[in-house]
Amino acid sequence: MSNTDFALAVEDLTVSFDGFKAIDALTLYIDKNELRVIIGPNGAGKTTLLDLICGKTRASAGSIKFKNTELTRMAEYRRVRLGIGRKFQTPSIYENLSVFQNLEVSYPGGRSVFGALGFKCTDEVKSKVQAVADDIMLADKLDTEAGLLSHGQKQWLEIGMLLMQEPELLMLDEPIAGMSSRERELTAELLQRICKNRAVIVIEHDMEFVKRIAHKVTVMHQGKILAEGPMEKVQADPKVIDVYLGH
Ligand code: ADP
Ligand code: MG
Repeated sequence: MSNTDFALAVEDLTVSFDGFKAIDALTLYIDKNELRVIIGPNGAGKTTLLDLICGKTRASAGSIKFKNTELTRMAEYRRVRLGIGRKFQTPSIYENLSVFQNLEVSYPGGRSVFGALGFKCTDEVKSKVQAVADDIMLADKLDTEAGLLSHGQKQWLEIGMLLMQEPELLMLDEPIAGMSSRERELTAELLQRICKNRAVIVIEHDMEFVKRIAHKVTVMHQGKILAEGPMEKVQADPKVIDVYLGH
């Protein structure tokens, strides 16, 4: 397969922090429309890997290709424009704005939170907001102030803000932390919906949740890949049980 067949091709990626390799010659390929889950013990390098892909952290060596474009030395905002969306662990929504406004300000080239007056909310923006609100199960909350949403709804809103930009690769770091079991179920369905149009990478610890959503699972340990494949295979791997699942 050539690199263009993948949504993302990470090859021999390394990052050192003062000589410590948080990511160590890691190679990983994600298919288009794949939902990949990354698991592994704390400190394995999972968050750092997402930092490298989105451009928050610079690689020391190796390559990251997205849509056959080399990202490794590209600025973070240019990666966003190319179609990479990243959700961090703490939601960064505008608590004082409504759900509608939070989505609206996330529309590429739309109004900014600051220069709000004079912006024309076009039908195009409105229909996009509506479609995303349907996806994130907040269609009946468009006029609600975001600060009043439940913790889970805030997480969905932030995913919605990323979806407004129609990313081709969406990365989520522990998206169900702190959610109720009903919210977890709904989030699993949400992720299954949104990976129909894009590749999605999720870091998660909840094995029931991982089982429900993962097409393939990558197990990381000490900056490297310990195992990779379908959940059943990875779960039965003695190396994985030893360093992660057994604890
Ligand atoms: P995980 O998300 O799998 O729990 P992280 O990617 O957060 O792991 O961290 C991997 C390792 O890299 C940890 O030992 C962490 O302390 C270290 N690390 C991460 N970011 C930095 C940084 N900016 N500077 C120094 N060390 C870091
Ligand atoms: Mg982490």
